[in-house]
Amino acid sequence: MIDNASIESLKNSIDIIDVIGGFIELRKAGANYKANCPFHGEKTPSFVVSPSKQIYHCFGCGVGGDSIKFVMELEKLSYPEAIEKLASLNNFSLTYTKGSSDYSDSKRILEAIGQWYIKNLDRNSVAKAYLLQRGISQNSIERFDIGYVPKGQEVMGFLQSALLPLPQASEAGIIAQSENGQGFYARLVERITFPIHSPSASIVGFGGRTITNHPAKYINSPQTKLFNKSRLLYGYHLAKESIYKNKKIIICEGYLDVVMFHQAGFTEAVAGMGTALTSEHLPMLRKGDPKVILAYDGDKAGIAAALKASQMLSLAGFDGGVVLFPDGQDPADLIAKGESENVAKLLREAKPLIPFVLEKIVGQYDLHDPRAKEAGFGAVKQYIDSLTPIIKDAYIPLASTLLGLSTSFFGKGARVETARENFSQRRDDVEQLSILKTLIENPSLIDNVLSVINIEMFGVYANLFRALINQEDTHPSLIGLSLDENIPIMDEAMLNNALRIFLIKHYSLKLKNVSHSEEISYDKKSYLIRKIRTDIIPRLKKGELVAYDHSV
Ligand code: ZN
Repeated sequence: MIDNASIESLKNSIDIIDVIGGFIELRKAGANYKANCPFHGEKTPSFVVSPSKQIYHCFGCGVGGDSIKFVMELEKLSYPEAIEKLASLNNFSLTYTKGSSDYSDSKRILEAIGQWYIKNLDRNSVAKAYLLQRGISQNSIERFDIGYVPKGQEVMGFLQSALLPLPQASEAGIIAQSENGQGFYARLVERITFPIHSPSASIVGFGGRTITNHPAKYINSPQTKLFNKSRLLYGYHLAKESIYKNKKIIICEGYLDVVMFHQAGFTEAVAGMGTALTSEHLPMLRKGDPKVILAYDGDKAGIAAALKASQMLSLAGFDGGVVLFPDGQDPADLIAKGESENVAKLLREAKPLIPFVLEKIVGQYDLHDPRAKEAGFGAVKQYIDSLTPIIKDAYIPLASTLLGLSTSFFGKGARVETARENFSQRRDDVEQLSILKTLIENPSLIDNVLSVINIEMFGVYANLFRALINQEDTHPSLIGLSLDENIPIMDEAMLNNALRIFLIKHYSLKLKNVSHSEEISYDKKSYLIRKIRTDIIPRLKKGELVAYDHSV
């Protein structure tokens, strides 16, 4: 069990913007942040996060809550699992009332085995020689904690001698259960190891490069609770400071490229986990607002990966460029050969993302063939139509030139988007909601309001009103209301005025209904009509807030 006090202090140390911003892309919108809701498919953002209230709410599907609730729902985790996940993401040490399998076990094992891998590198001359021959300095080996994992029996021997529990080592991705279920075996054997860190610099897994010509050149840790390779970037924890300072991030293809880039002074370099860049990487890339430079191999696979990544980045509004290293040379080789200057020049001359995408798309079609040209136009138009209107407008001339077409094919100028997001479809009800929102912000006014109205007068919002009075702070509709920017909060004078107007409408309607009612006795009817028409409404109109009367 996680200690409650430790949960409280975790809660106090995290910020919902960082938590949610770590999973999805948030954009600032006034005092709040907005995003496309991760819980339901949508194209215009109706998911709002409030830094001041530390809550989120989706006006589309109605979900809402705090940081922990978000992690539980998004990652399908139980409450304690979500707490552990948040603690791990924030490098926060939870305390436990009783030892059980938890993140701190996984972390302890990963740290211990990482240290052991490092020691092994010095004992293995072949591995060490390989690194030095690739031009990697002792300094870089230490900076990146590069190690070596020997034979499988030695791994098992180490875990046993260090008293590291095997089931937890398996959970951490170090070993795996053998197929017959009889025992465990080491996942990485006879490889150079590259520890992979979370952005907050704790080890979450390892990458291993073979030195025995194993057909799989690189192997990574399996997906574990800590290791999600579609979200991690190798070297990010070391590059973070430079990324923020220099407003630049270099994304390369391999671990060795990252090490060599750093060695040559390009300390903003990171790499994916041997997989393509995905939209899950975008929140991390957005941090510090850097220009994104893709530094990929100039071979077919590298070009395809660069095209895909630059399409995604440009559509997500990133600024940046692409460098393709020529003649099958990767940046690591160039730097090892002492050509850092050349690398720096290539980086400076990176082709901007959008022109790169346009050129590569057009390059796939034979423009001498009218049909191919038409298909090429279709592909370019589809891409360019997905850009924001002003950016789109700026690149139509280039797209037209590349295709050898008139700009008129792309339509005249940018379309004016009607981007206004309609959060509250209940315009008629703004008054009532505004009253409720004012009471959420200023609960001391509730008593005054209750002295002049009855909750049932609020009709479809009566339940919301009740939740407010009962202080159900986590009620999703209340959270939604408090974040709805289209509903104003009033001061006391405005509130009183709004109440008067609301009551005049209410009593006028009641007057009509009473007159037509066949269920009320004649005496009661005449009493009500007289009371409302000659007493209540005139007093309200004169500016008096008439106290609620049960008999009416
Ligand atoms: Zn939603």
